[in-house]
Amino acid sequence: MNNPHHQAAVRELLISVEALLLQERELFGDTLLVERTASTGVQPAMPARSRTAKPAPELFGPAPTPRTTEPWETADTLDAMHRMVCDCMKCPLGATRTKFVFGIGNPRATLMLIGEAPGADEDAQGEPFVGKAGQLLNKILEAIHFRREEVYICNILKCRPPNNRTPQAEEVEQCIPYLQRQIGLIRPKVILCLGLTAAQNLLKTSESLGRLRGRTLTYEGTPLMVTYHPAALLRNPNWKRPAWEDVQAVRKLHDDLVARQA
Ligand code: URA
Repeated sequence: MNNPHHQAAVRELLISVEALLLQERELFGDTLLVERTASTGVQPAMPARSRTAKPAPELFGPAPTPRTTEPWETADTLDAMHRMVCDCMKCPLGATRTKFVFGIGNPRATLMLIGEAPGADEDAQGEPFVGKAGQLLNKILEAIHFRREEVYICNILKCRPPNNRTPQAEEVEQCIPYLQRQIGLIRPKVILCLGLTAAQNLLKTSESLGRLRGRTLTYEGTPLMVTYHPAALLRNPNWKRPAWEDVQAVRKLHDDLVARQA
């Protein structure tokens, strides 16, 4: 080992090994990966692990935090779920609401109606569609021979947006899982979306009301139809005739599906 040529070669070798180990550590962390080789049959000093098991943060960014299930997601009744979510503060609307407007009606409804968001009356009373638009909705339901208590009525958002402005994307993102779970618990035969906001957010589409009306669409396998929002009908009475046609089509679709199941 006194041979200077030997010493230089060993030094060079050690430098290369060190560089290799530093590179390994940068890529795979502190555990040394030793692969079993067919020729030597040498056992790994440490268990070989998948190179995807612990990606280096510098290369792939921090590992995503696994999403934990919230208790309401496994609630098996609407009442239980309501109790679990009624103090929600996931978006800023939680701080400005008077009442959380969960939804109302028959938990076994075959028809589910979905509006946009609570207005002032709904915020005060904690029930959807109780103001002027709600009174018109009751008349529409009567006209197609449904009682309000027979169906289930709720909204895309559970809390009132200030000045009844259109729900914002972040509010919908936080709130819509509640609606999705409600639909899953009720399992209606037909969903009727009242207005473009309800339809676009539930169907995740940007299609116009003109394109969405008059068709039988589906939400996760449940037939869905779209009509005008009752508040829009109050502003534009000319739309009452086409809305009448829409809801008659909803009644027919509903009855056909119920009869098919009987
Ligand atoms: N408008 C809606 O969309 N929902 C209500 O509950 C009341 C008015």
